[in-house]
Formats: sequence, structure tokens, C-alpha cells
Amino acid sequence: MDYLPIFLAIRGARCLIVGGGEVATRKVRLVKEAGGEVVVVAPDLTPTLAALCEQGAITHIARAFDAADVAGAALVIAATNRPRVNALVSSAARAAHVPVNVVDQPALCSVIMPSIIDRSPVLIAVSTSGASPVLARILRARLETVIGSGYGALARFTAQRRTAVRQRLPRPLDRRRFWERVLQGPIADLVLGGRAREAEAAFETALAAPKARPGALVSLIGAGPGDPDLLTLRALRLMQEADIVVYDRLVAPPILALCRRDARRIDVGKSPGRHALPQEAINRLLVELAQGDQRVVRLKGGDPFIFGRGGEEIEALVAAGIAFQVVPGITAALGCAAYGNLPLTHRDYAQSCVFVTGHCQNARAALPWASLAHGRQTIVFYMGVAALATIERELIAHGLSPATPAALIERGTTPEQRVVTGTLKDLTRLAQGAGIAPPTLIVIGEVVRLHARWAQNQAFSPRARSAS
Ligand code: SAH
Repeated sequence: MDYLPIFLAIRGARCLIVGGGEVATRKVRLVKEAGGEVVVVAPDLTPTLAALCEQGAITHIARAFDAADVAGAALVIAATNRPRVNALVSSAARAAHVPVNVVDQPALCSVIMPSIIDRSPVLIAVSTSGASPVLARILRARLETVIGSGYGALARFTAQRRTAVRQRLPRPLDRRRFWERVLQGPIADLVLGGRAREAEAAFETALAAPKARPGALVSLIGAGPGDPDLLTLRALRLMQEADIVVYDRLVAPPILALCRRDARRIDVGKSPGRHALPQEAINRLLVELAQGDQRVVRLKGGDPFIFGRGGEEIEALVAAGIAFQVVPGITAALGCAAYGNLPLTHRDYAQSCVFVTGHCQNARAALPWASLAHGRQTIVFYMGVAALATIERELIAHGLSPATPAALIERGTTPEQRVVTGTLKDLTRLAQGAGIAPPTLIVIGEVVRLHARWAQNQAFSPRARSAS
């Protein structure tokens, strides 16, 4: 380490900023946010600083810097565009043993300023020790997304209850366990979700019986269609807190890799015709796992409620008196449309869109073909590869034009994504010719025309193939 990270208490202390330009203005704002008494030494000020001075929020000494100015300061920042002045400020401050920062000149600094994620009272500072300020900003942006705006509220929630917890649980070890449970469980989730009143009630219940086992809870999480970037922030958080992850074949390995490293992983994957675990056994397994003192995550491809049998699993949990929560995911149709470059609705081509399963004992008898087969509607078939011939025949028999554009999107949103386009009448032939296999989504409707038109401008480039 080239630097020791520390946080400086400057509330009410004199902080000297040398310079009155734009950079100085940003520094003044930052120092004021931390409660510093700002004194600006500069011949001229930006309008913003002049206004602050007018309001009495800062003090302005309207002249050039003098070495004596650093006396009594808790912090000195040089933000002028004159190297000679900056060097002078640095040496004067160092001689007076006052921490000094010279903007963009690490060699002249005794303290350097990090990039900040402000979730007050939670503060996260990122520094590259001056090696790459741009990288620090990029890292900051990443952390901003993972550490949501609710963490400040969570820290305040905790601060307000520490005395009560100390009284209730005098032993430090008991207190630590209690807080770990609160901060990694449903109570924290409620606070982060902005549901303060429910969080308060749940906290009171937990504190009344701090050693009682927490109620069983299973989180059904939609993992999206394949690209890990399509996970929701809530899904990611719960995955990183999981003790046990029960997952499907459709959950891509890069997504599974984002679960907490020590979590136990249970594969209940199903592939067509080969049932690794029947649905009833999965339901029983979830009920059983939830009885332990562990956080169970049920990770499902796409969205749990779109052909995901999430409803059946919840029925089983409800019957066993186990609490659940559902985190929605991006369903295959939305992911495949976006990455496959075709809109599901479009004012010129489709005013409605239906999601249909092709996986039924007898698709021909089971599906409402007449209501599916009309123009100006996009039909999306999930699990339809085995039923392609039936889909093709029945839609045409019920009046849909054989020339209706159609697309097959295999492994959408993943690096292996393939898009094959053609028309309804040769869907089966297309799929066979390209060797299309599940997981594949079938999209039928005029919107598919746009795929070819947009192809050359698409930034994300799957191995698209047009066979029309
Ligand atoms: N709950 C899931 C769907 C499960 S059914 C969701 O909301 O997406 C399984 C079917 O989903 C597959 O047969 C396939 O038709 C479709 N599917 C899932 N992921 C896919 C992907 N990455 N690309 C194409 N189709 C996909």
C-alpha cells in the first residue's frame, strides 16, 4: 500500500481552498458537504462561489495566496491552474504539518482524494493511488450499481437500534450473530426496499425472541435468459447471500458463478424427455431445505412465473407454511427479442403479443389456434422445437398466411446465440437445416421483418443467418 486510507473529520474546522475556478468550486462543495468551514483564497470567484460567499456560506479572501494562510487549517486544497502557486501551497502546508491536496498533482500531495460512493452514513472511497483516476471512476460506477441507494437507510436503521440491542443482548457474540442475521436476511431486504414500517415490525419480532430460529424462507429468483448482465440487482444480492442454491438446466454457468462461493449448489435440471428430478420431488426438496436454518434460493431461467412452474413450487411452500418471495427475471421472449433484434410489438406490425407453450401432450388439441392465428399479432412459442411441424400446420390451417415471417432464436442473449429467419411455411425445414436445438424461442409475426432491416446496425452481433 502506498497510502493509508482514512476519513477526515472536518466538521466546523477551517478548510482552505486556494483557487476560485471550476475545479475549486467542486472541491468547495465536497468540503462543505462534510461540514468544513470553507475559506477561499483567490483573486476571483466563479458565480457559484460568489453566490455562496454572498450567502455567508463561505469566506472569501480576495487576493493571491500567502504562505501564512495555511495557519490553523485542518485541510488545504490547491486548485489553481498555476503550477508555481500550487507548489507554494504544498510546501507551506507541509511545513505547517497541515494535510494538503493539490488537484491532479499527486507528487505535491500529502493526502489524495478518492472517488466516493456516498450512501451516508455509509461512505465508500475508491483510489488507484493516483495510477488511474478514470479507472477509479469506472470502479466507482460499478460499485454504485451493486450498493444501492438503500444502504444509507440500512445503516441508519441499524444505528437507531444499537442501544436497544445492546440492552437485550449483553453478550457481544450474541449481538454479532443477531446483527448478521438482521443485515443479511429479510429485515434488511425490507429496509433496502423502502418498506420501513414492515421492517420495523419484523425487527421488533426478531428482537423479542432473538435466539428463535428465523422463519423459513425460500426466494424464487428469475435468472434471466443467459447473459449475467440481465440479472436484477435484487437477484444478485440474494444470490450472494444464499446458503443453498437449487437451480435448473437453463441457468447459465456464468450466472451460477455469481452465487455466494460457499453456497451449496443443487442441480435439479430438466432437459426435454430426461427428467433429472420430477417437479413433485423439487417441490418436496424445497420444503425440506427450507426447514433448516439456511437461506434457500431457487434459481430459475428467465422469469419464475413464465412457463417456469414457479406457481407449483409456491403452492407446495404455502401448503407447508413456508414464507416465500419472488424476484422477477427477464423472460426469454424479452431477452431474445432485444438481443435478436426484433421488437415484439410495433405500431405498424403488431398490436398484441402472446406467449405460448409448445410443450403439451397434444399441442394440436390443447392450443387455441384460432385466436393465435391472426395478423397484427406476434406469437412467441416457448419449448416449441419438438412441436414445430404442428405449429406450422395448425397456424396455416387456421388462416395465418404461409408467408408470415418467422424467427428461431437459439440460446438467446448468450455468446452462442443464433438467429434463423424465414417464413412460417418452412419453419420445420429451417430448423432442421440449421440443426436448431432447445433452448430455442420461436417468434412468428410481421415484426420479424425488422430483424433483417436492422441487422447491419446492431451492436451486439450474434451469428445471425437468414434463410428466407
Ligand atoms: N421461465 C423461462 C422459460 C422456461 S421454459 C423464461 O421466463 O424464460 C423453457 C423454454 O424457454 C425453452 O424451451 C425456450 O423456448 C425458452 N428459453 C429459455 N431461455 C432461452 C434462451 N436463452 N434462448 C432461447 N429460448 C430460451
